[in-house]
Amino acid sequence: MRKWNFCAGPAVISEDVLLEVQSETLEYNDIGSSVMEISHRSKIYKNLANEAKEDLKEILSIPENFEILFLQGGATFQFTMIPMNFKHLTGTADYVTTGTWTKKALNEGSKIMNINNIYSSEDDNFTYAPDLEKLSYSKNASYVHYCPNETIQGNAIHKIPKIDKPLIADMSSVILSAPFDVSNFALIYAGAQKNIGPAGLTIVIIDKDFMKNGNPNLPNLLRYSEHSKSDSMLNTPPTFSWYVAGKVFKWIKKCGGLDYFKEQNNLKASKLYDFIDKSDFYSNPVKIENRSIMNIPFILSDSLLESAFLAESEQNGLLNLKGHRSVGGMRASIYNAMPLEGVLELIKFLDYFEKKYG
Ligand SMILES: *Cc1c(COP(=O)(O)O)cnc(C)c1O
Repeated sequence: MRKWNFCAGPAVISEDVLLEVQSETLEYNDIGSSVMEISHRSKIYKNLANEAKEDLKEILSIPENFEILFLQGGATFQFTMIPMNFKHLTGTADYVTTGTWTKKALNEGSKIMNINNIYSSEDDNFTYAPDLEKLSYSKNASYVHYCPNETIQGNAIHKIPKIDKPLIADMSSVILSAPFDVSNFALIYAGAQKNIGPAGLTIVIIDKDFMKNGNPNLPNLLRYSEHSKSDSMLNTPPTFSWYVAGKVFKWIKKCGGLDYFKEQNNLKASKLYDFIDKSDFYSNPVKIENRSIMNIPFILSDSLLESAFLAESEQNGLLNLKGHRSVGGMRASIYNAMPLEGVLELIKFLDYFEKKYG
């Protein structure tokens, strides 16, 4: 039996999507085999791949001057691929460090080029974040990198900034949670396994003019423009993940698009934060204006109760509430595919557990 799954990633996928995939597992569209068993160069696969791209374009209102790439290597590989492509412009870039992932991006990027860590909230365990429009950037920075939703700390920058430098965002855990203006960015990337679909796929949305500036001397697999020229099929793409992501995009459209999910996600998060804030037993350390809508960490007033909490929550059908090993405590990831009902069940359990042990 399926239970409420609060895993940070790979994360819950809508049951509608999974059932559809199940119904096509043996045979897709009368072709005599599944999607997993056909060539990525076949007409049938190319059609579904392109449809996924077009649906994503529609959902996010991605302007014509942006390319959408379906790559591999995860968000983590982008920590390397971005500096490799754009180092040669000025040799330097500015990074905003608000959690584990941006710190990793900074460390990986620093192996390749000069990176200025222009802002860090590490002094307070990444529990707050800046307004990017108020930061000052290095004159010669080729680009500015930040993460609007730090998945581990639940530390978010909600305002999509307008700055006069090419802006790059790691949107792995927040993409598709609400509409936003893609044109503010030079490059957006996201690993699929949070809000898009199965692991193995990485979405990159890149301004075509910015893409043209990429270092032409890199091997093809490292070049955005080469991936673009080949419709993300320089080599065999992760065909199954791409196919399921396409189904997720159709499901998003059917539900009412990103306006619908924005409303639902805000509702889910506010119900959970309200409960946590009213309780003396649970708490969330993140500054209110920076609280994530997608990943909600919380700690118990008595950390000795953590193992009982995890065991009992699981018995009550609530899975994967353990916080990331680096920060401890608990974390509820409530992506698009987690319905309000699941969050209400979680709140019911939090209440029960507090009354029993608090
Ligand atoms: C999960 C995550 C990553 C790492 O993704 P991989 O696909 O495992 O490389 C990077 N950044 C953020 C914000 C994430 O949530």
